[in-house]
Amino acid sequence: MTAFRLSNSNYYSQEANQHFQSASMFKGFQSCEARAMAQLNGWKPAETESKALLVGNYVHSYFESPEAHRAYIEDNKKQMISSQGKTKGKLKSDYRDADRMIAALNLDKRFQQSYMAGQKEIILTGKIGGVPWMGKLDSYIPGQSFFMDLKTVEDMHKRFWIADPVKGHWGSFIEDRNYPLQMAVYQELIEQKYHIHAEPIIVAVTKQNPPDKAFVAIPQEYLDTAMSQLLEVQDHIEAVRSGRIPPKRCEQCDYCRATKHLGQIISMNELIE
Ligand SMILES: [Zn+2]
Repeated sequence: MTAFRLSNSNYYSQEANQHFQSASMFKGFQSCEARAMAQLNGWKPAETESKALLVGNYVHSYFESPEAHRAYIEDNKKQMISSQGKTKGKLKSDYRDADRMIAALNLDKRFQQSYMAGQKEIILTGKIGGVPWMGKLDSYIPGQSFFMDLKTVEDMHKRFWIADPVKGHWGSFIEDRNYPLQMAVYQELIEQKYHIHAEPIIVAVTKQNPPDKAFVAIPQEYLDTAMSQLLEVQDHIEAVRSGRIPPKRCEQCDYCRATKHLGQIISMNELIE
């Protein structure tokens, strides 16, 4: 057995990713194996690509604890303050949006009674299809029949084309970001640790002014489908992750664009495949 102990301080580390599969890494492998492998080996996306994630983390940290929020600000001070133009020295507009999102939730009674009443950032581990997985619950009361996950989004009613190989269809940001997969994993890890079937509730809050907000349920059939799709492709992903199969390049993502060389001529139809 490995001596690695997963904790709050190493959860997002490269080492944790080498020991445990996670929903975000799994989704990374599904969208581009070459990029996911590069990330496992320390490659980092450009700042602009991760801005939305940073703002999301800022909102999360506020509701986690005052200490977590202070630590976030301490670590990210530089990129939170505008360094040029009329707004020089002021909080960047993304963070002003984030403060509005925080206020919109903070003033809501049901949010206080549910999300805020739960334990924050509970780390779970377990095995899915024989592979060690990790997950982090935003808010959960152990033993309770639901768990909550906070998601920030531009506009929760926006439609996305979901390129499902079986049946392409329009879906919301929840499907676009494959949250059913993440929530199916959390549901399974909760079941393994607490022996209870818990349902996910997405707490969605938008960047709009004023922000929109909603508690969103994901029907169980979507979670079940996501879990069976996970089990179907997991062996292949593990083979790539362990180096037994070379990673495939998607030739479209930021990593592939940054490392691309012109080669074969492609047909115009391949551009929109
Ligand atoms: Zn790629």
